[in-house]
Amino acid sequence: MVSAKAPGPQGDFPSNYREFVRFFPDDEACSRYLAGLRWQAGFLCPACKHLAPRPLRESRERFACPACQRQTSVTAGTVFDKTRTPLTTWFEAAWHVTTAKNGLSAKTLERTLGVRYRVAWVMLQRLRVAMVRAERERLSGEVEIDETFLGGPKPGGKRGRGAIKSLVLIAVEIKRPKGFGRVRMRHVPDASTAHLLPFVSDVVLPGSSVLTDGWKGYNGVAKRGYAHHRTILSSSGDPAHVLMPGVHRIASLLKRWVLGTHQGSVTPDHLQSYLEEFTFRFNRRTSRNRGLVFRWLLEQAVVSGPVTEDDVTGGYDW
Ligand SMILES: [Zn+2]
Repeated sequence: MVSAKAPGPQGDFPSNYREFVRFFPDDEACSRYLAGLRWQAGFLCPACKHLAPRPLRESRERFACPACQRQTSVTAGTVFDKTRTPLTTWFEAAWHVTTAKNGLSAKTLERTLGVRYRVAWVMLQRLRVAMVRAERERLSGEVEIDETFLGGPKPGGKRGRGAIKSLVLIAVEIKRPKGFGRVRMRHVPDASTAHLLPFVSDVVLPGSSVLTDGWKGYNGVAKRGYAHHRTILSSSGDPAHVLMPGVHRIASLLKRWVLGTHQGSVTPDHLQSYLEEFTFRFNRRTSRNRGLVFRWLLEQAVVSGPVTEDDVTGGYDW
C-alpha cells in the first residue's frame, strides 16, 4: 500500500544514495523534478485558466503560462512555499527521512546536512505535513481502537518538566490469522465521546468492525454504522493489553520510536506531527523501494496547499 494514486512510471526516482546524487546535482535538477511531479497531468494557469501540457521554463525556479506569460514558481503553494533553504537541501532531507529505517531527528539532520538546527527542524515539520496528506483512505475490515498515554516522567528521570502526559487515540487494522494493516492516530485532550466518535468516523470506513473495550466513551459507535464489538474487562481484571493486543503493540512501537529516534523530545504542541510521521512510516513498512517512497513524499509536498514556516512553528493546526 503506497498511495491511493498509482505511482508514476518506474525508474523516475533514485533507488539508492549514489543514484540520488546523480539525479539531483543542483537546484535546477530539483526544480525540474518538482515541476514534473506537480504538473504531471498538465499545467492549469491560475491567472487565465489556460490548460497546457506543461508551463514554459523561464529560469531555474520560474515557470510561465504559455498563453498569458504570467510567471509562477514551482514551489509557490507547496510545502516549500517561500523557503530560503536551497532545494538540494530539501531533497537531501526528504531522502534521509524516507530512507532511514526509523527516520531521523532534527538534531541528526542538522549534523548530517550541516544546516542550522532551526532549518532542520522546520524542514522536518513541513515534510510531516506532506506525510499526513497521504493518509486519506479510511481503515476497513476489523479495526481495534484504544487510547494510550504518551510522555510523562522518563524512567529514572525527574518529575515536573516534560512530565506532561498526552492522550493518543490509536486505530489499527487487524489481519487474520495474524498481523496488522494500517494505523491512524490522534492526539486528543480527553477520552470523552466528543473526541472518540469523531475519530472513529474520520478514520474508519462505515460497515467495518470496530473493536473497543467497555469504556462508555465508545457508546454510539454502532449508531454510526459500524459493527461494534466490545470486550468488557472481566472482574478478574485482565490487563488492558490482553483486551486490545493490536493497539498495545502499536503503542509500544510508537513509544520506542519517540524515545529512540527523538530521545523523547516531543512536546504536546507538536505531538500530532510526530504521530503523522509514525503513521506514514508504519503504513509503508513493507514498501521495499525506499526511492519510491521518497518520490511519493515529494509528490505529496507539491500537489497540496501551501505550508509556511509560520504554520508549523507553534504546532501545525491539523
Ligand atoms: Zn495564463
